[in-house]
Formats: sequence, structure tokens, C-alpha cells
Amino acid sequence: MRTQVAIVGAGPAGLLLGALLAKAGIDNVILEQRSGAYVLGRIRAGVLEQICVDLLDEAGAGARLHREGLVDDGFVLVFGGQAHRIDLAGLTGKRVVVYGQTEVTRDLMDLRAASGLTTVYEAEDVALHELDGSRPWVSYRKDGVLVRLDCDFVAGCDGFHGVSRASIPKDRIETFEKVYPFGWLGLLADVPPVSHEIVYANHERGFALASLRSPTRSRYYVQCPLDDKVEQWSDDAFWAEFRARLPASLAERLVTGPSIEKSIAPLRSFVAEPMRYGRLFLAGDAAHIVPPTGAKGLNLAAGDVGLLAQAMAEFYRGSEAGIDDYSRRALARVWKAERFSWWFTTMMHKFPENGPFGARMQLAELEYLMSSRAMQTAVAENYVGLPL
Ligand SMILES: Cc1cc2nc3c(=O)[nH]c(=O)nc-3n(C[C@H](O)[C@H](O)[C@H](O)COP(=O)(O)OP(=O)(O)OC[C@H]3O[C@@H](n4cnc5c(N)ncnc54)[C@H](O)[C@@H]3O)c2cc1C
Repeated sequence: MRTQVAIVGAGPAGLLLGALLAKAGIDNVILEQRSGAYVLGRIRAGVLEQICVDLLDEAGAGARLHREGLVDDGFVLVFGGQAHRIDLAGLTGKRVVVYGQTEVTRDLMDLRAASGLTTVYEAEDVALHELDGSRPWVSYRKDGVLVRLDCDFVAGCDGFHGVSRASIPKDRIETFEKVYPFGWLGLLADVPPVSHEIVYANHERGFALASLRSPTRSRYYVQCPLDDKVEQWSDDAFWAEFRARLPASLAERLVTGPSIEKSIAPLRSFVAEPMRYGRLFLAGDAAHIVPPTGAKGLNLAAGDVGLLAQAMAEFYRGSEAGIDDYSRRALARVWKAERFSWWFTTMMHKFPENGPFGARMQLAELEYLMSSRAMQTAVAENYVGLPL
């Protein structure tokens, strides 16, 4: 087989890159190790920045998002038992859209199927070859048969545990990492959200987040110890803990119900640089991870592939400047989002090792934030997404 761009991974980064390249007339094949149903079953992000929405529109996958996505003008910060609002629209003129990653993935999959582009699901043993030459190739096994796919470029969109970053020689890549000493226990339920704007709560029992997927579906989280197992948490135990971390004004509006999904995610900050090795380009979680507190993971992945699609289109028009500059441009934005996500996580979570002094510092920072329009603007600017 031959294609122009071999994309490894059919998460949001791989699917969006495939759609943007197709729009630019660039042939591509996606290799995904899981089944389509498995990819669609993963419950993850839910807040889209305007840049992400614009890229989905450009790819031709934005129609349902505009019909069904919920536009949020602000978000809510809870501390000291009181709710405060950050007015995103008033401070920046920009908004965010609540639309689940599952729905983004479904729309991109449908678009890809309609445009007849090849996606190989359940591709096993994907391996990358001759990345440092001008004729890289990818091998994989499908239904027991070994297949060779020749290409001009490989796009590593295969997430944190993928094969792409691992294929780069250790002396050609540098990694930076911070692992947080807690996780998030998330619960999805078909109950009306406690607030149509996302609520972030700093509480002495630990952080809580009230998010949503639609007017009838809620996604809630509580900070939990890293070694907790999801089986330890009955739905009732979750609801009791979540309610305890909300201010009274929200707790009294909380509607509970059976969980559709419940899982624990660890929190990590991670960056690998550069995001290129020869003809391999990394994008999305393959190159960087943020703790989900700032809702940046999916948006960063979209930003990366927006830049990469542009750079590859320039290459086929005769200029290598874009691909040569891709890693620098992407990383400049990635590090700023890493900083914001780390800062927001640090300000909102309980760090027992920081003691009562650390907790007071958080409250002082939150009080200062709510008294300063300048600081609110800085937070809002980062939350709605920095320019590409
Ligand atoms: C549990 C969880 C909760 C999250 N919650 C949030 C949130 O609330 N807000 C937020 O902004 N972000 C969140 N994120 C982050 C966000 O979901 C990711 O940033 C986003 O999915 C990145 O997209 P991606 O396409 O780069 O990677 P992924 O979505 O990870 O996609 C990578 C794809 O590559 C495939 N793959 C992996 N290895 C191989 C291989 N060897 N061969 C072929 N295919 C392979 C995988 O199966 C997968 O389909 C969450 C992430 C996780 C894990």
C-alpha cells in the first residue's frame, strides 16, 4: 500500500488531521489498534475552544456541533463555600462550547466514512521504519496478515502510550514530566447538570468538578487518592462525596441517578520535545499530556494538527518551511497550556503535603483573582485558548 501521510491513531488528533489533509487534497491512511466501537466508548474531554470549533468547521465536521453543542459564556469557581463567576465572554469576547469528545470523534468518523478514506481498525503490531530517510514506511498486522504501508510522512497521533514517540531514539528526544499525587474519580449520569456553566470547586475535602455533556447528561468528578480503585466507590458514595464539596446553593439543586460510566484517571503534566524526528511528526497526547483541570488536552491536540495539516499542505506546494517550523510553533503553545493547566490544578486541588499554609495560599490567590479584573482576564484568555 502507498499513501502520502500514514496516521497512527484514530483519536481526535488522528481523525481531525486526516480530515484536514483530505480537504487539502492530501491522501492519508489511519491505522488504529482498537476497534471503532472501543474508540467511541471512551469518555473523556468535553470543552472545546473556538480554535478547535473552527478547525472542525474547516474539516467539514462542525454541523452537529453547532446544532447540539452548548455555548458557555463563563465558568464558576467555588472556594470558601461561595460560588464566583469568571465571565469569559465579558473579559475576552470569546466563549467555549460544551460538546463531548465522543461526539467529536463520532462526527469525524462519519465524515471519514462518507469521504471514502481508509481507516484500518484493529491494526496490530504497528511499527515505524526508516523515519530518518525520505521514504519512511509503516508495517502492521491485520487479520494475521503483515502489511507494508509506504508514505511520505508518518503522523504520530497515537496518544501517550503509543508506538510513535517510543520509536524515536532516546538521544533525539527530551521529556519533561510531573505526576500529581492524586487522581480524578469521574461519573457520567443521565441527570440534569447542577449548572449549565462548568463548576470548579476548591474544598477542604478535595477538588470537585461539575461538568456536563448535554442538558440531560452530567459529568462530575472528585479528587481521590491515587491508589483508590473504582470498585471501592459505589454510586451512593460518589454522590455523597460530590455533594459535600459543593456550596449549599448548588448542592440543593443536585439531581443524582445511576452512573453510566465511572472511572479513575491519574493526573500528569508531560512534554516531549522536539515533536519531530525525521519524517515522523508527533501530535496531541503522543507529545504532551496536561492534567484535565484546564480542559486543554483535546484542544491542544486540535491545535497541533491544525498546524501540521497547514505545514504538510505547504510541503506539497513546494516549501519545507512549515514542516521545519512545526515543532517550534506547536511547542510554544503547548508549554503555555502546560503552564495554565499546572497552575489551575495547583490552585484548586488539596495537596496534603503542603499543609494548612498551602491551603491558605490557595485561598489568598483565589481571593486576589476575584478582586482583580487583570488577573481574571489572564485566566479567561488562557481558558478560551491562546491563538495558534
Ligand atoms: C481518562 C481520560 C479523561 C480525560 N478527560 C479530559 C477532560 O475532561 N478534558 C480534556 O481536555 N481532556 C481530557 N482528557 C485528555 C483528552 O481526552 C486527550 O487530550 C485527547 O484524547 C487527545 O487526543 P489524541 O488523539 O492525541 O489521543 P487519544 O485520544 O489518546 O488517541 C490516540 C489513539 O491512538 C491509538 N493507539 C495507541 N497506540 C497505538 C498503536 N500502537 N497503534 C495504533 N493505534 C494506537 C489509541 O487506541 C487511540 O485511539 C482525558 C484523557 C483521559 C485518558
